[in-house]
Amino acid sequence: MHQQGVRPGCFYCEHSEIQRARMIFITKLSTSTVFLNRDQTHPGRCIVALNWHVDELFELRGKELTQYIQEVADVARVLKSITGCKKINYGIYGDTVSHLHFHLVPKKPEDDDWDDAFINNPQNPITGKDDVNNRLISQIRQELEDRHETL
Ligand SMILES: [Zn+2]
Repeated sequence: MHQQGVRPGCFYCEHSEIQRARMIFITKLSTSTVFLNRDQTHPGRCIVALNWHVDELFELRGKELTQYIQEVADVARVLKSITGCKKINYGIYGDTVSHLHFHLVPKKPEDDDWDDAFINNPQNPITGKDDVNNRLISQIRQELEDRHETL
């Protein structure tokens, strides 16, 4: 099922320092890998990156597309449950980092950017404290694994 496309220079493919500077590994699923974004302006903000390189959603074939979207939905469900947010925002941008990945951003009505797009790269990112990040990571990982076991 998995096409193992790797693109030289892509930090998602090469798992480079640039990637570790931007996000923290949470867990690997069958088509995607889940990361906690270092920017926690919206607590619980995550990335769900495809496990191989394509630029566009339409490059995925039927079963791959279905499974990837299922995993995005699973992560979104877990984030909504853990954060108590009002809405998950889903962003695929990738102008300069084209490797297919969703940003999942928990939003609340009291957020400055409620009813508007979240800022992908805020000028003054709020980096979560280690203990808060670690708690989020273990909760997300546990809930995803629990869900997997019940399938
Ligand atoms: Zn890549």
